[in-house]
Amino acid sequence: MPHLAVQPPALPVFSTDQPDTGVRLHRVICVGRNYAEHAREMGNDPEREPPFFFFKPASAVVPSGTTIPYPPATDNLHHEAELAVLVGTGGAEIAPQAALSHVWGLAAANDLTRRDLQAEAKQMRRPWDMAKGFDNSAVLGRLHRGVDLAGDRSIRCRVDDVLRQDAPLSAMIWPVEEIIAHVSRLLTLQPGDLILTGTPAGVGPLARGQTCTVEIDGFDPATVTLA
Ligand code: MN
Repeated sequence: MPHLAVQPPALPVFSTDQPDTGVRLHRVICVGRNYAEHAREMGNDPEREPPFFFFKPASAVVPSGTTIPYPPATDNLHHEAELAVLVGTGGAEIAPQAALSHVWGLAAANDLTRRDLQAEAKQMRRPWDMAKGFDNSAVLGRLHRGVDLAGDRSIRCRVDDVLRQDAPLSAMIWPVEEIIAHVSRLLTLQPGDLILTGTPAGVGPLARGQTCTVEIDGFDPATVTLA
């Protein structure tokens, strides 16, 4: 019987606002280009094309408050402030009207990106994995259960004390319900899937020693410091 000589490390458990409830993540599914102004700043046409997706490994997620080393193989690490949606009930071909019933909770998150590797991958028509899915590349704030997104909230990113990103969540081209509908036509969503819903305009570089904080009104922040 073949066996693994080494057990993979257990994934960390991420904290929630529910007492004694922790969450183990299954996959991280990220949406590209979901705010028009960010699509424009990246040189793309923000017409309402169907959303596209990429993965990060669940092992890339670190909890808010972590200090991480400046990642290798890049001179241009960028922050991307994003709303994270945790799937609680899986499913395929989920209708938009039913989508929110599959959501366990929401959090602030940071989709850290090696922008130089991403630009090279785009130019050479190569995959984005090494630009997006590197160690410690997703920072996750505390997951809040039962949040109503009907009242509009703002998402912001601060680097030290400088405001870099600031937009209403309603500026998303594809709202949460439609993202879930789209991705569940491509995959069977599973409990523990975490969807990062795209970033607004204002992405930019992070330097060693800086602290980057993603804030969403009413949520705990997602903070990371670069050693
Ligand atoms: Mn992103």
